[in-house]
Amino acid sequence: MTSPMAIKDIDRPRHDPSQPLLAIDEPPPYAVFNPDGAAPILLLCEHASNRIPRALGDMGLSSHDRQRHIAWDIGALALAQHLSLSLDAPLFFTNYSRLVIDCNRPLSAPSFIPEVSETTEIPANRDLSQAERQQRIDMLFTPFAKAVTRRLELFEARRERPFVVGVHSFTPVYFGRQRPWQAGILYGEAVDFARSLIRALGSESGLTIGDNEPYTIHPDEDYTVPVHADARKLPGVLLEVRHDLIGDAAGVAAWGERLTRHLKASYTKSR
Ligand SMILES: [Zn+2]
Repeated sequence: MTSPMAIKDIDRPRHDPSQPLLAIDEPPPYAVFNPDGAAPILLLCEHASNRIPRALGDMGLSSHDRQRHIAWDIGALALAQHLSLSLDAPLFFTNYSRLVIDCNRPLSAPSFIPEVSETTEIPANRDLSQAERQQRIDMLFTPFAKAVTRRLELFEARRERPFVVGVHSFTPVYFGRQRPWQAGILYGEAVDFARSLIRALGSESGLTIGDNEPYTIHPDEDYTVPVHADARKLPGVLLEVRHDLIGDAAGVAAWGERLTRHLKASYTKSR
């Protein structure tokens, strides 16, 4: 006789958490770009990759879904790397999809390991055991969070107060609705920094810049801004750029140049 649980599990790709989540030939959980960058900015890209550990197979998703925005922030890593070079700022980015674990979510958020993303069910995340969940935290989330914390401690040891800037992209259409913004600035306590960026970007003709849009920051749903910035009393924001605008090299260069100008102006002003 089969239990209802076992029936449910048949169509869920399973990984035995006593086995490694990452094979020896797979990338580490995160990477650092321009680690010695001298600018007073720490760049983060928490949704940089759509890679899934081989041990999780396709997570029960079609190849189309694994390429889509639900898996990663399209164009965000290229933009973050552009900013890292043009500002000379260190960049920490994740090597695995937010569908495996979302490094910009607190452990208690339902979207930390999402069972549904927008309207798509993520079969590999259904009814995870505590051991499976803990393995993803230990192997992917904690190493990234700790590395970022260590870099912030290095800034502090050098008596520098960096700006913490997460680089993200958003989908032009969400739940069937067209979004009006080309970019948005999301923030919690860093009101001055955020508003100066919004004003500067908005002064460019033709740009509609979201003020805590398309998302808001909330400690129950966010990690980077509340934990790495606000809790340390560092100015922190997330940059959100509509992903079709940074889908190719020309778009990345244009937005990279624009954001470099305005970020530099912000931190030069504050010194
Ligand atoms: Zn994102």
